[in-house]
Amino acid sequence: NTSTAEIQARDARHHWHPFSDMAALNAAGSRVVTAAEGWTLTDSEGHQVLDGMSGLWNVAVGYGRREIVDAVAEALTTLSYTNTFFQCTHPAAAAYAEAIAGLLPGHLNRIFFTSSGSEANDTAFRAARTYWDLKGKPEKKRFIARRNGYHGSTVLGASLGGMAPMHGQSGLPIEGISHIDQPYWFGDGRLLGMSPAEYGHFAAERLAVEIDRLGADTVAAFIGEPIQGAGGVVIPPDTYWPRIAEICAERDILLVADEVICGFGRTGAMWGFETFGFSPDIVTMAKAMTSGYIPCGGVAFSDEVAATLETGGEFFHGYTASGHPAACAAGLANLAIIDRERLVERVATDIGPYLAARWASLGDHPLVGETRMRGLIGAFELVRDKAALERFPADIAAGTRCRDLSVRNGLVMRAVGDTMVIAPPLVISHEAADLIVARARKTLDDLHAALTGA
Ligand code: PMP
Repeated sequence: NTSTAEIQARDARHHWHPFSDMAALNAAGSRVVTAAEGWTLTDSEGHQVLDGMSGLWNVAVGYGRREIVDAVAEALTTLSYTNTFFQCTHPAAAAYAEAIAGLLPGHLNRIFFTSSGSEANDTAFRAARTYWDLKGKPEKKRFIARRNGYHGSTVLGASLGGMAPMHGQSGLPIEGISHIDQPYWFGDGRLLGMSPAEYGHFAAERLAVEIDRLGADTVAAFIGEPIQGAGGVVIPPDTYWPRIAEICAERDILLVADEVICGFGRTGAMWGFETFGFSPDIVTMAKAMTSGYIPCGGVAFSDEVAATLETGGEFFHGYTASGHPAACAAGLANLAIIDRERLVERVATDIGPYLAARWASLGDHPLVGETRMRGLIGAFELVRDKAALERFPADIAAGTRCRDLSVRNGLVMRAVGDTMVIAPPLVISHEAADLIVARARKTLDDLHAALTGA
């Protein structure tokens, strides 16, 4: 057997990790993940950790589900590949598109497959621009997105995303994209002295101001994650999204919901836009579509957008792996589990509220300034001074230290600055939910001891 040290040395020589949370596993003594089952990761030294992040927010139905593995094996045995780019289709692609359309509201019926969330957003961008072209408004080309949003790592994804470190170095964002501030209550709203409801309206008006500044006749679309995930699980006040949708409708701007994290039950509804009561024109998805077993992404178009694109002649667009048989088989098996185990309902009425209540109890810790959770996606904010809700100086790296201590305590959490985020698989047991909270509390105590020198 290859030793952990050998694997790590080989990896260090040849495998580029430009950016990785693997440092967290490293802190626990090993960063070589060798197996996973349910919500438990095992490393090459036999350490086990509870995966509070569902991989990268994607392993909705948990690891090691035999029926997905079998469905993929069967699909690959029967038809290892066919393209869906030119003349072809295949039974699983047709069935999977139908199944996804069946989960969406009535006006979203046409699904295009990609291999990732980045590609899905790329497709949405090209489609939205082409749509306005075909509508005789070719000057409507701009996209508006949000600071600290995340829409992928390709040139377009990183441009749409509002992550400052993704921009400067590589000369992004590309032309034609602008960003407004995120609806971040803890980091922004509470400092303005508004109620959450007032702040939701206020934050949404930023979109109106930006559209009017640019001129609505130059703006194609607004794109946003219902809950910003990688930006720190920013859960907007309930007044935010309905007002955003109104602003888009009033100004004739397409509304694109990036459901790559929120989709397929994460927020306690099938889609994040259902949780927040709005209706998008285009939906992008990936991750939990296949629970990460096989890469897959997709875009759903409204009937109006699809019909316009279809009347415009050829929209030259497709990927080699669009609708790959293995991805469609994994996706169908994944949806069958979500349906049979009533996972969305479970998140809304059972395990979601169960974890949320216990997660909220962390709010009494001296290092915690706020806790929040919607469905099974949540966060807490680390603070130095609880009374003043004052953050740590950046050089303390409180979030990174908290993350590494957490892995040592057997829980994978993610740090976004000093915001600790969590999004466990939708299938976690009540005992696992208890463990998440117990390990998070132990981690906070350890961090407190480390920071106060106790
Ligand atoms: N959108 C959102 C909201 C995401 O969280 C991500 C990935 N973290 C993406 C898009 C990009 O997806 P992918 O990594 O599959 O390209």
